[in-house]
Parts: sequence; C-alpha cells; structure tokens
Amino acid sequence: MKTFITLLFVTLFIPTLSGCSSKDASANEQDKKVAYYCRETKKIVVTTKQKTPALNPQTGKKTLFPTMYCKQCKKWRSVPPMEILQRNPTAGICSRCKKLLVAEGPLPEKKS
Ligand SMILES: [Zn+2]
Repeated sequence: MKTFITLLFVTLFIPTLSGCSSKDASANEQDKKVAYYCRETKKIVVTTKQKTPALNPQTGKKTLFPTMYCKQCKKWRSVPPMEILQRNPTAGICSRCKKLLVAEGPLPEKKS
C-alpha cells in the first residue's frame, strides 16, 4: 500500500514539476511584447513579436501592422512596411509633427 501511494505521488508530482518549468520558459517568451497598429480597430495593440500582418488577439484577425514611436507626440504611429522604410527612411516620420520615429518606446498600458 505504501508503494502504491509513493507511485501515485511520483506520477502526480513529476508532471506538475515539468509543466511548471515549461510554463516559465513560455512566460519569458511572452515577455517579448511589441506594439502593432491594427488597421481594423485603428488601435495600438501590444502582443507577442511575430510576422506582419500579425494576429490581433482581440479580434482573431491578421490586421496588425508595424508601428513606430514618436517621442515628440509620445504616441505610436503606423508606418509603411519595413522594405519601404529601408529604402526611404523619411517614410518613418510622424504624420503630425514630422519628427523621425523610433522603433522602441514605452508600450501602451493594457486598459481593462
Ligand atoms: Zn509626432
């Protein structure tokens, strides 16, 4: 009887342990969040880094496109695709204040 309990304990405990460690790894992966511009909702969406058009977790549609940050307006702006930006750096300017946009900026807070 004692062996049975030990076995039960081991079989229950080991999956919990391994499940826990893999969860930690994916949690780290999920930390890599990026801001995208959703062409459907016209909102900035923060989600995991992926190829564009990226999936909007709120709508389930691939409507997310790259965005860059304007330090002047403190806002994220939608930008043309990277290929165009690389050819024409002036494409990455703010539509309001015409300042050059940057790739990194404070991610918008999630509003619930
Ligand atoms: Zn601006």
